[in-house]
Amino acid sequence: MRLVDIGANLTHASFREDLDEVLARARAAGVERIVVTGTTVEDSRQAAALGMPFTAGVHPHHARDCGPDTIAQLRDIASHPNCVAIGECGLDFNRNYSPHPDQEKWFAAQAELGLSLKKPLFLHSRDAHPRFSEILKVLKPERAVAHCFTGQKEELHAYLDLGLYVGITGWICDERRGAHLLELVREIPRDRLLLETDAPYLTPRDMRPQPKARRNEPAFLPHILKTVAHALGRPAEEVAAETTRNAEKFFSLHESRSPAAADRPLAA
Ligand SMILES: [Zn+2]
Repeated sequence: MRLVDIGANLTHASFREDLDEVLARARAAGVERIVVTGTTVEDSRQAAALGMPFTAGVHPHHARDCGPDTIAQLRDIASHPNCVAIGECGLDFNRNYSPHPDQEKWFAAQAELGLSLKKPLFLHSRDAHPRFSEILKVLKPERAVAHCFTGQKEELHAYLDLGLYVGITGWICDERRGAHLLELVREIPRDRLLLETDAPYLTPRDMRPQPKARRNEPAFLPHILKTVAHALGRPAEEVAAETTRNAEKFFSLHESRSPAAADRPLAA
């Protein structure tokens, strides 16, 4: 089985001590590639330094910290050959760490950057539908993924109508708040489904035993795959092959880059 984790926050402090072990476990679990999520300018730079495919962007939580140089800085980082998307960017009206006007302004600015660079968009939307869709309707991105989809049916179909890919995380393994996804995931066209851990966040709640400090990591992607495949009533191998193909197409991973992009050399 070959899997692609389309979103892991590997620059997070919780991976500082043992990233090489984390990557080795991922590979042993069949997670062949990991796209490292950039959530601030500095974090995107750190992601670039890891030598893996990564995204360059500013999460809506940090929109208030954006300024006149932000887009130029992201453009510069995005010129790195391993930068496969712009984001994560979008709207988060759940936590509201940044004022809505700031969030909307920097979401649109980053989306426009992605369009001008012909790079796909890695999008975050939480409790922000329908505003999120209204902004995208104007921008009409050709390739964009609603990462970590957690919404309801109407929101899902609005995104599908916009042509978005949909990223499913371990949220679907949460019997308290993710059970609706077990049905909704069947409505996602096969060629638009992507899988991700969003590590170190969103550890699948039904994993036994729960990992140390409840830290999520890319090696747990097969657990999410199995839950998704079971919900679809299809063999996990088939869903693995499809979602991997989707991820490779979405991020143009086959075109990549130095061989080091896929296989970061591990410390001996
Ligand atoms: Zn997100």
